[in-house]
Amino acid sequence: MSETFRTLTDHPLSDIVSKVTSNERLTREDAIRLYNSPDLEVVGALANYRREQKAGIEKAQWVYYNHNMHLNPTNYCVETCRFCSYANPGLTGNSSYTWTVDRVLEEAGKGVRLGVKEIHMVGGLNPACDINYYEEVMRSLKREYPHVHLKAMTAVEIEYMSNLAGITYQECLERLIDAGLGSMPGGGAEIFAEEVRERMAVKKTPAPVWLEVHGTAHELGIHTNATMLTGIGESVENKVDHLLLLREQQDKSGGFQCFIPLKCYYDGTTIADEVKEPTSEDLLKDVAVSRLVLDNFDHIKAYWIQLGEKLAQVAFSFGADDMDGTVMEEKITHAAGAKTPLQLAKERIEFLISSAGFTPVERDTVYNVLNVGQHPKNAPNNTAALKELVGSR
Ligand code: SF4
Repeated sequence: MSETFRTLTDHPLSDIVSKVTSNERLTREDAIRLYNSPDLEVVGALANYRREQKAGIEKAQWVYYNHNMHLNPTNYCVETCRFCSYANPGLTGNSSYTWTVDRVLEEAGKGVRLGVKEIHMVGGLNPACDINYYEEVMRSLKREYPHVHLKAMTAVEIEYMSNLAGITYQECLERLIDAGLGSMPGGGAEIFAEEVRERMAVKKTPAPVWLEVHGTAHELGIHTNATMLTGIGESVENKVDHLLLLREQQDKSGGFQCFIPLKCYYDGTTIADEVKEPTSEDLLKDVAVSRLVLDNFDHIKAYWIQLGEKLAQVAFSFGADDMDGTVMEEKITHAAGAKTPLQLAKERIEFLISSAGFTPVERDTVYNVLNVGQHPKNAPNNTAALKELVGSR
């Protein structure tokens, strides 16, 4: 056992500690034990150890972020997933909308003028937004803003558009790449477990299709991300099996960059009374266990919009090395010009990273380093923040 964990020889997780420190792949059983362990601090320390080992000495304290914006051209969707309030206007009282190509350009311009380097674009499954629409959107965006990377289209949208047009996933992706698609986000994976998907009325993109679309994208030379949605009635075993399917796909196709654990929010849905909302401890375990199980993923993201600032900061000590971007919410793209706090948000993100004791590193979408910030002189101890969030034990 490594010197770092020498006091843990009698710990119930000591065999897993040995595996982690000797860089051995963890099994399904190991992952379930990590999730079920009451010792959050040891699970976090193991994940942090693996993060540092993967990053190497020079980058061990780096936490990445990027300067991006979200565009959501339509919230109309033919599906009715029960956990989705975004595309269920009947439940939220919002009306559905579909932007013209000009409107997409106008909204993109607000962020681009403030310096964003990536547009993250996803939307509902809308027959009016078929492959022809998105080809035009992407060509227009690249014509106007050639320097901006387009990270767009979940596997769910690729499946829908391909079926609508009667073409293969490969053909669909080739056409979009030709139009300017630079990479794909990781959304739409939800939880791969069929029994959960059935309860949540998820009819779209079962695991084999989601994985096939990403594998095809990797073969075509673009990077993608992967997600897992929790708080929709899943078990620990469901989560572990989800991670293992991602790891297996990464072994085959190798193009995933980052894994992002997500949590469901319930406003506008009808599921709150029948599911368990993840606690802060659960969310930190998702970060830590994913870092340990996904040994072939370079990055794990603490998605600050979902975790909140404090928990995201703690997650940097639980294996996360990315905080996502400056602008994450569709509503931000509706804010006008200088009122949109893009530059302030960038400074805020850098502050949050450095005040948690890490070095803020601005990256582009595919993790080229754009700017390495200062490492804080007095790195704080995250234990106090952790105790405040999950309670002392
Ligand atoms: S397919 Fe996506 S956008 Fe449509 S209802 Fe389901 S989660 Fe929402």
